[in-house]
Amino acid sequence: MSDYYNVLGVSRTATSDEIKKAYRKSAMQYHPDRNQGDAAAEKKFKEISEAYEVLSDEKKRQIYDQYGADALKGAGGMGGGGGPGFSSMEEALRTFMGAFGGGAQGGGGESIFDSLFGFESQGGGGAQQGASKKVTITLPFDEAVTGAQKEVAITNYVSCSKCDGSGAKNASAIKKCQQCHGSGVINQSRGFFTMSSTCPRCQGMGKTITDPCADCHGSGRSKKKQQVTIKIPAGVDNGMRMRMAGYGDAGEAGGPPGDLYVYINVEPHPVFQRDGDDVLLELPLSFTEAALGCKKDVPTPRGSTARLTVPEGTQSDKMLRIKGEGFPNVHGQGKGDLLVKVVVETPVRLTDKQIKLLEEFAKLESEQNSPRKKNFFDKMKDFFK
Ligand SMILES: [Zn+2]
Ligand SMILES: [Zn+2]
Repeated sequence: MSDYYNVLGVSRTATSDEIKKAYRKSAMQYHPDRNQGDAAAEKKFKEISEAYEVLSDEKKRQIYDQYGADALKGAGGMGGGGGPGFSSMEEALRTFMGAFGGGAQGGGGESIFDSLFGFESQGGGGAQQGASKKVTITLPFDEAVTGAQKEVAITNYVSCSKCDGSGAKNASAIKKCQQCHGSGVINQSRGFFTMSSTCPRCQGMGKTITDPCADCHGSGRSKKKQQVTIKIPAGVDNGMRMRMAGYGDAGEAGGPPGDLYVYINVEPHPVFQRDGDDVLLELPLSFTEAALGCKKDVPTPRGSTARLTVPEGTQSDKMLRIKGEGFPNVHGQGKGDLLVKVVVETPVRLTDKQIKLLEEFAKLESEQNSPRKKNFFDKMKDFFK
């Protein structure tokens, strides 16, 4: 018996999301449809499906972690009378369907930022997940700092209210499928192997509708415009994507609903520039302020002000840091800083009096006042000889 975590190539502390991702990846590789007649692939497919079946179920995973695979033998569902392990491909395929169709389940607790997986379950899966939707929200800069709540109108397929999503006119209009006798699967012998496939007549539902619902014509769904409130967390950045599990189209034939993907677009700010969780601000200072030092109230992205101490003798381009006044981290991990870049401005449009004073100042200037200038000319000494 190999270790389920090893089989899926995940650590013992893997999240349910990581487990699902790992399973989906290897399941695609070893799926019997892609490896027809390959006994090794079939064995591997059963193995990973079994591992996933256990690790994706919180209760079973707990039992497995504590007591091992044998403890799951009697727990029902695991390989019938034999040892733990999927005895039939049918079970493995059901797990596979579950992992791809049930994307909307178990979204809670994990990061809301999730990547789209590039796999759509192909037709004929019976209960099918509803389509996922996409919406783009444009936020002003300050709402990206504070977070926001937005209402959007989306037109979704929802479960038909007349037939409760069944697609049938009434309960007696639903009949057991005659081809698969209600199992939704048909078994075919291919050489030495028995392959299971979705019943073509009922599309895996195990039942057929003799008299469809007049409102939805048997689909079980209807279109409806809905208002959705989207909670945007503080600290979101341009290009981020949020997943709202279950807010897409209703599923078909009792399948889970699709998801709503919210793409974030943040408008630029006239003075602040974002750099990760830090925010850059250019602060112009007069040359006397920079030379003598000063205190300045600078704006913060939160809309308040923060006191900045500019030490005497501050040079142009010097970066001063105000801790914790940047963006809140979107995953709740602390806050960025406000980075203030000092730009010293040479005075222009001088009055006669200012010129006189500066001329006087110039007479008192020494090498020590301008270490950079001195350094430069020291290096160039040979050149000027
Ligand atoms: Zn209906
Ligand atoms: Zn059928």
